[in-house]
Amino acid sequence: MPSRPIDLHTHSSVSDGTETPAELVAAAVQAGLGTVALTDHDSTAGWSEATRAVAGTGLTLVPGMELSTRLGLDSVHMLAYLFDPTDPALVAETARLRDSRLHRAERIVERIAADYDISWGDVLAQSTSGATLGRPHIADALVAKGFAPDRSAAFAGILHWRSGYYEPHEAPSPLLGVRLVREAGGVPVIAHPATRGRGTNIPERAFDELVEAGLMGVEIAHRENTDAGAERLRALARRHDLIVTGSSDYHGEGKPNRLGENSTAPEELERIVEAATGWAPVRG
Ligand code: AMP
Ligand code: ZN
Ligand code: FE
Ligand code: FE
Repeated sequence: MPSRPIDLHTHSSVSDGTETPAELVAAAVQAGLGTVALTDHDSTAGWSEATRAVAGTGLTLVPGMELSTRLGLDSVHMLAYLFDPTDPALVAETARLRDSRLHRAERIVERIAADYDISWGDVLAQSTSGATLGRPHIADALVAKGFAPDRSAAFAGILHWRSGYYEPHEAPSPLLGVRLVREAGGVPVIAHPATRGRGTNIPERAFDELVEAGLMGVEIAHRENTDAGAERLRALARRHDLIVTGSSDYHGEGKPNRLGENSTAPEELERIVEAATGWAPVRG
């Protein structure tokens, strides 16, 4: 019997997913997954609830995070697995990130409010307390106010980086991100590095530098990676002997991505587990 699918990239309401960590675990069981990683943006606040929720389900939880980093104007997402969530440097950096995201979201909303009847309170109403705030929550507020039919439409319009309302948030460099994750005993895997659009294709030299700094894997099977980009990534992964992952990037109802739509091979997960020294998978 083939083993049940391994999905290493999902979001809960601790960041911009629409389900609580416990609901996400239930959805993963329902979807027939064998392993799910919880990878909220810049936060580990969902780990304990997800850990309690997997007990007795037969589902394995891989606690993780999707760390925001920035290379020039481009946003680079670094998946991090099985690190020590109390590591002081990483805790400080993620706290800074969440704070910078909060103020950046306030400024974006201020600009939008000049043209649309929307307030900061409308955005807070779409997020749980302490959540990592981002454009998805502004999108949900715009939808609630009737200014967009759904989150994706809001991203394509009012929240697009070309709309005039946009600004990026502060974030560490990918190089620093890799180092922080490694120093916390975790396994850094660069998320969806070949998506279409603005500056999502990291130059090869920058990639080599990241590998030298300790980058361990690359997320290749992801709906936003282009076919040509995935091909290039496979060559890169072979050259550097990197771990190769695939995943859904599930956001509940916030994105069309479905649990298990892409998955990771068991031997690749094994490499992640063996390399990690900060935390262990939770077998439910
Ligand atoms: P931000 O980091 O605040 O600039 O917002 C970008 C984030 O929004 C990315 O991490 C996306 O995964 C997330 N996101 C969630 N739902 C959607 C959606 N429906 N369309 C586009 N991006 C989305
Ligand atoms: Zn997201
Ligand atoms: Fe991402
Ligand atoms: Fe994600």
